Parts: sequence; structure tokens; C-alpha cells
Amino acid sequence: MSHRLIACEHCDYLHVEENIPAGSVACCVRCGSPLYSAEQSRFDKPLAFAITALLLFIIANSYPILTFAMEGRVETNTLGSGVLTFWQEGFPFLAFMVALTSIVAPLFLIFAHIYVLLPISLNIRLPGMQKVWRILAMVRPWSMLDVFLIGLLVALTKLTDFAQVIAGPAFFAICCLIPVALLMNVTLDPRNVWRRIAPASLRYLDQSDLADLSNGNSVSQARHYGLLTCHTCAMVVKDQKDGHTRCPRCGDVVHQRKARSLSRAWALLATAVILYVPANIFPIMTVTYLGRSEADTILSGVAVLAKAGEWPIAIVVFTASILVPIVKIVMLSWVYMTTYLGLSGPLKERTLIYRVTELVGRWSMVDVFMVSILAALVKLGNIASVQPGFGAVAFCGVVIATMLSAMAFDPRLIWDRTGMGGSQQSSTPDVYAQDQVEKQGTPS
Ligand SMILES: [Zn+2]
Ligand SMILES: [Zn+2]
Repeated sequence: MSHRLIACEHCDYLHVEENIPAGSVACCVRCGSPLYSAEQSRFDKPLAFAITALLLFIIANSYPILTFAMEGRVETNTLGSGVLTFWQEGFPFLAFMVALTSIVAPLFLIFAHIYVLLPISLNIRLPGMQKVWRILAMVRPWSMLDVFLIGLLVALTKLTDFAQVIAGPAFFAICCLIPVALLMNVTLDPRNVWRRIAPASLRYLDQSDLADLSNGNSVSQARHYGLLTCHTCAMVVKDQKDGHTRCPRCGDVVHQRKARSLSRAWALLATAVILYVPANIFPIMTVTYLGRSEADTILSGVAVLAKAGEWPIAIVVFTASILVPIVKIVMLSWVYMTTYLGLSGPLKERTLIYRVTELVGRWSMVDVFMVSILAALVKLGNIASVQPGFGAVAFCGVVIATMLSAMAFDPRLIWDRTGMGGSQQSSTPDVYAQDQVEKQGTPS
């Protein structure tokens, strides 16, 4: 094993890679974020899951998800019908977002895994493998088929009260697709793929380079060594100081920190706060049932579920649509503010909170998916119909703005501004990393 240098993407602490037992993950000694997994020699398991996922995805797109029967009339919907309905009803933004998150991104995710893992398993090279894996890193957060499934279950709960609803083949395909896609992700560390598709002549910086770089100082952050971490593939490279350092492994431009990170993160968070008001005032949909129309806001939607005794679903919707956005906005504001002010304090906890908010934000899309399903399925005019409302547009805007805000923020700033990156560590980073990495290796 070469003792390659690796810097934490969340706090910039520099480590030296060590051998860790198969199936374990090495974590950062300073902030606890995962650094790398044990090197993988075979990729057949994630490949098998990717091929299975593709077959299920084809079924999910070719057959009806639900069949809705009422007063002798029958309507069916597919994955694409929500997109079409939003488009026809004059909501192009919602049509675009639902198409991206429930069709385009999941399909690209599966395709990219097959396109890259199949040639690796056959020991051949295909053109553009690096490019595909690089785009995958950008697309991954927008793949939300798992959230779509929850939206589907909420829609189903709302419909069964007043009509006959039958689940179609696509419904079961989506139910199977979620665990298969999850297995595809947990059996593969994308960083291990980068090692395999990197140019053969690529030289990694390792322990032997440290002495030259540190000038004998005991420092801990990669930036103090004049090193940068590629945001796409996590390779550590020397800063060319011209602002145009390119990663030799994935080809992306590498920056010391994300450009104008805090101001962009604040601006996007402020957008989310502003959109949160119309998202809760305006109805997300209008339900017409036997000639009577009623507008549903996010809050009244939860109340209706609770009144009907559907407590588990009401709690899920309340958590995803009301609790998560508020908690996310408050937590991100706290992280940004303490970073801006350069406050010391619980830096590790702040990093953890940032990581968690980055992960949970997408679950708020549940209500948007629910509206897309109901509007596509319930189209019986005055007998029963569902029209999307402006509240859904604003709410979708809140979810996207908070996601983009978290993406714009560079968590390494949490550690930079407090001056913790300097010479406060008594031991040299390599020795420190070596013994801690082994202790923290936990089975994944
Ligand atoms: Zn760290
Ligand atoms: Zn890179």
C-alpha cells in the first residue's frame, strides 16, 4: 500500500492512507467524516445491482403505477404522467423538477454505474469513463426515486378513502428498485472507482512528499502544505497558485475553497426563507370532490391525514414538509453565522449538523411528488379532480434553494476561520492519522 495523502473534504485535515480491513471505513481524526473505504478489487456486486436496477427501472416506466376507479371511470398513471400533467396545467418548473428527480437523474445514476463498472469488470477501457463518473457526482443528489415512493404512499393513503385504487406492475417495480439502488450504493465507494479509472501513469502525492511540503513545521490542514483537494474525486494535488489547477485524475478545476462560498450559501438560504412564506400560505393543490372544491395547504394536508386517523402517514408528511425545512433553515443559519463570525466552540458537532442537513433536505420533496401523482391520476372533472397550486411551486423552490445553499457552503470554512488549522496539533499528522484511522475503522 502506498502511503498516499488524503485530506478530509469537510475539515481539510491531512491524513496518510493506511491499509484498513475489508468492508471498513476510515474516518477523519478531527471531524469524524468518512474519508475512504477499504480498497475494492471486484466490482461485480454493485454492477449486478445496477443491471437489476435498470431492468426494474424499465418496468417502472413501461407499466401503470396506479389504477384509479370511480363511478365507472378508470384512470391510470405512469412515472411520466406527473410531468405531463404539471406541464399541461401550466407549471413548467414543477414538470422539470419532477422529470429531473424521478426519471432523468435516477436513470443516469444507473446508466453511469453500468457504463463504468462493466468495462472495469471486463478489464477494458471505454471512452469518457472519467467524464461519466464526474457528471455522476453532480447528478447524484438530484436522484430522488426513494422520496418519490414515499410521495406515492401518501397519495395512495389519500385516495383509498374515496375510490378504488389498484397498484400496477410499476408500483411493485419501484418498491423493489429502492432497496436494489440502495445496495448498489452501499456496496460501492465512488472513490474506489476513481482509483481504477485513473490514468495508469498518474502519480499520487504520498508520505515522502510531506517533509518537503511542510518545511519542518507541524501543521494539520492540507492548505498549509500548499495542497488542494479535488471536490469531485478527492485527489490531493499541489496548488499551482494560478487559480487554474486542474485535477490530473478527473479533469475538474480544483479550488482551495469553493468560490464565494458563504455569500452564495447565505443568498440561497435567504431565497428559501422568502419562498417559505408563499409555500405555506398558498394551496399546494385544489381537490374537487362531487362538485365541491377545497384548497389544501401543506399544513391543512397534514391535518386532513391526522383527522382521518392516518397517523403514521401524517407524521411522515409533517416531518418531511414542515419540520425538516424549518430545522434545516435554522441549522444552516447557525452554521453559517458561527462560521462568518469565526466562533470557536463545537466545531465537530457543527460539521456533523452540516452533513446531516445536507442529507435530509431532499426528503421534503414528498409533498411535490404527492401532488404530481394525485393531479395525474384524479382527472374526473366535477366528480373528482386535483389541480396543482402555486404553493407547490414555492415549496419546491424552498427545497431546491436549501439544497443548493448547503452545496454552495464549504464546510472547511468552519475550521479555517477559527485558526484551528494551524500548529495546534502536537503530533505530526501522519503518525496521528495512522493510529486513529485504525481505531475508527468500523464495518460499513
Ligand atoms: Zn475532517
Ligand atoms: Zn478530481
